[in-house]
This record gives sequence, structure tokens and C-alpha cells, in this order.
Amino acid sequence: MPSEGRPEGTPKGRYSALVPRIVLLEGDLTTQDVDAIVNAANASLMGGGGVDGAIHRAGGPSILAECREIRRTSFPDGLPTGRAVATGGGDLPARWVIHTVGPVYAASADPAGELASCHTDSLKVADELGARTVAFPAISTGVFGYPIVEAAPAAVAAVRGAETAVAEVRFVLFGREAFEAFERALAR
Ligand code: ADP
Repeated sequence: MPSEGRPEGTPKGRYSALVPRIVLLEGDLTTQDVDAIVNAANASLMGGGGVDGAIHRAGGPSILAECREIRRTSFPDGLPTGRAVATGGGDLPARWVIHTVGPVYAASADPAGELASCHTDSLKVADELGARTVAFPAISTGVFGYPIVEAAPAAVAAVRGAETAVAEVRFVLFGREAFEAFERALAR
């Protein structure tokens, strides 16, 4: 495979200053001591199950209050798929939560494109906040049904291709299977 995600002329195995370092971890996103964690939210921004529920439980009610305000002011019809918005982190170690809506795999005409957009738009929001370390879950791979072996390379390629001042992207994966899928994607 060509040196996907790297600027032209950057040899494989070396990283441009513009490309964030990618770190993989098997664990719980909500405990990460990073500037921002990314929530695999749904369009309503009103919370849900999976990682979304875990973030709201651990972060406390201020996150939902800010989400309600975002719905009222900026996105009355809900956050579109592939877009991202930020709230504070409430009681979380992370200062901010960046909420993004992944594609529902079976319903999307372009799941890879929409998943890539989740990552690039989240990093754009991180840049606007001044966040330098950002932790992502495996967006869309739970209830939204995106097979982890397909989602992992799409997510990694999107981060490698992003132009951002974020220095570290940490993928925090729930379970061995997800971790190994990202490990394989990263080795490509
Ligand atoms: P989606 O609706 O985007 O599919 P889910 O929350 O259902 O979002 O799942 C996304 C991924 O997050 C799944 O792989 C799931 O195992 C994982 N996950 C759930 N809870 C956590 C957590 N606390 N930390 C990290 N990953 C989590």
C-alpha cells in the first residue's frame, strides 16, 4: 500500500510534524487524562448507551446541559452524521468532550467517508479548542454496527490524512478484538 495519510515525500515510518502520533490502548475512554475525549454520540446529543452513556455517567449533568444548549442554538434538528461539536468535560479528567455522530453502517451510502469525516471534523474542533491530546473510541462499531475490521483502517487512515496541530491521537479500544484490529490497521 502507498504511504497512505502521509504527505508526499514523507518516508514510511517517519512522521511529519503535521501528522499526530497515534497511540493504541485497550481500556476505558472515560478515564483518559487527555485534553479532549471524543464521544460516539447520536444525532440527538441527548445521551444513549455504550460509550455515550458511560461519558455522561462519568462526566455528570453539565455535559447534557451543554448539549441541550447546542441543540437549542446551533443544531435544532440534531447533529448531522460526520460532524463534531464540543462541550466541557464536566467531572471527567478530560477538559473537553467532542461529540460526533458516526454512520449507522447498514443505513449509510458512504460509511467510510462519513467515518473519516467524524475523525477529521473532531480534530478540527480540537484545533479550535487548542487541544493537543485527543482520545477516540472506535466510533460506530457498537450499536451502529460498523464491523471493527473495516472501521479500524478507515479511522486510522483519516487521522493519518488529517492536517491538525493535535500532537497525539489515542484510540481507546474496548476489548482485545478491537485493539487488534487497530493494531493491524496501524501496521499497514
Ligand atoms: P456507536 O453507536 O457509534 O456504535 P457505541 O458506544 O455503541 O457507539 O460503540 C462504540 C465503541 O465504543 C464500541 O466498540 C464499544 O465497545 C466501545 N465502548 C463502549 N464503552 C466504552 C468505553 N467506556 N471506553 C471505550 N470504548 C467503549
